[in-house]
Amino acid sequence: MTTIEATTSPAAAQEQTAPHIVTELPGPRARALIARDEAVASPSLTRAYPLAAESGSGMVVTDVDGNRFLDFAAGIAVCSTGHSHPKVVAAIKEQADRLIHIAATDFYEPRYTEFIERLAAIAPFEEKARVFLTNSGTEAVEGAIKLARYHTHRSGIIAFDGGFHGRTMGALSLTNSKVKQRAGFGPLIPMVHHAPFPRIRAWREGSGGDGSAELAHLRNTIFARQIAPSDVAAIVIEPIQGEGGYFPAPQSFMQGLRELCDEHGILLIADEIQSGMGRTGSWWAIEQMGVEPDILTTAKGIASGMPIGAFIGRDSIWTWPPGAHGSTFAGNPICAAAGLATLDIIESEGLSNAAAMGARLRSGLERVAADVDAIRDIRGVGLMLGVEFDTHEGAEAVQEAAFRRGLLTLECGESSLRFSPPLIVDEGSVDIAIRIFAEALEAATRPEASVAETGL
Ligand code: PLP
Repeated sequence: MTTIEATTSPAAAQEQTAPHIVTELPGPRARALIARDEAVASPSLTRAYPLAAESGSGMVVTDVDGNRFLDFAAGIAVCSTGHSHPKVVAAIKEQADRLIHIAATDFYEPRYTEFIERLAAIAPFEEKARVFLTNSGTEAVEGAIKLARYHTHRSGIIAFDGGFHGRTMGALSLTNSKVKQRAGFGPLIPMVHHAPFPRIRAWREGSGGDGSAELAHLRNTIFARQIAPSDVAAIVIEPIQGEGGYFPAPQSFMQGLRELCDEHGILLIADEIQSGMGRTGSWWAIEQMGVEPDILTTAKGIASGMPIGAFIGRDSIWTWPPGAHGSTFAGNPICAAAGLATLDIIESEGLSNAAAMGARLRSGLERVAADVDAIRDIRGVGLMLGVEFDTHEGAEAVQEAAFRRGLLTLECGESSLRFSPPLIVDEGSVDIAIRIFAEALEAATRPEASVAETGL
């Protein structure tokens, strides 16, 4: 469950994972690196706060000045097995010695085949599955759109308000999370329509809703006025919106979408790039909603940080011929080897741990937030938890205050803070994160409280 040696005592283990801030932040080395980076990096990058990472182990990231952080961001929900899990590192090293590249589009390679077999075996539908490996999440979405269009001979795509599916032109056309992600890049691909997504805030506001109003809008407005369902190839949805603010779709809404798809011969594509790979306590969030998609996209946590993604579809929809789709690097043997090790770790430790630690984290966050008016909602599933504030500035201030105390979190949506730690997180780390969150909240909502007064 942890990368710490079995011989290490619990107290020593705790000591090694506890955050430890030894310089001002950013420290001198971080400041120097940031200055060099900003001189040559694309200005489009949005660094959340001045973390300059040097190394990582398990739950901990150490920066270039020797400051130690507890990582509840996991590189945007990617480091599913923690940083540099020994089994993943060994798999990468062994494969690098054996073979680095061969091009799976043209040739066969054992790690590639085993990885797609394993992904096909955990596909969330009854029918036999086929898999195409990609280099990233956005490419998985591109491939899924292409497959859906090819198979149905239709062009239309329905996506959702607040959705995020990537930055390449097809995926970007579906992305509808923040306008700055689209501004200046048009024209995007045609025949994409965005439908309302049920954004339910049940914890404090009890906003209610089961998605029936949004389903009615899709049926009665979009399908009645904007696009005929017979022109729609696919409905693409994140079962839990990620970048949009960690909003789980209600089960009845997902079931309603499945019915609409069945009625009109439309494919249902579940984008589980953020919500998948065990983060919610099951391989895929959609499994907990009692719905089978036709295609599922995955990436992020699939190989513990190595760049690889996939789209997985029912056997009967892969009607395209040789040459219709391919990629030079995708399914690279080192990435596939890291993916196989990742699947083993998630299977044996991650799934049940994500459910148990998610419940512990959620109740801790709820306890801390109970009488903080600035917190509007706490929601999510397993280790995909979001805390929504009443303002963007509120979320930002707590994110910054947490960083200064040694806890890495990441904003999402308009004003939410996401907690997406590695799936191997243990009770001690969860409890430290809750404590630092409480201190950060106190410091951010009561600015006169000094660091010395509130924490590390
Ligand atoms: N889809 C979802 C749901 C995502 O959360 C993301 C990334 O945040 C993507 C697609 C795009 O993935 P990538 O950044 O690997 O291209």
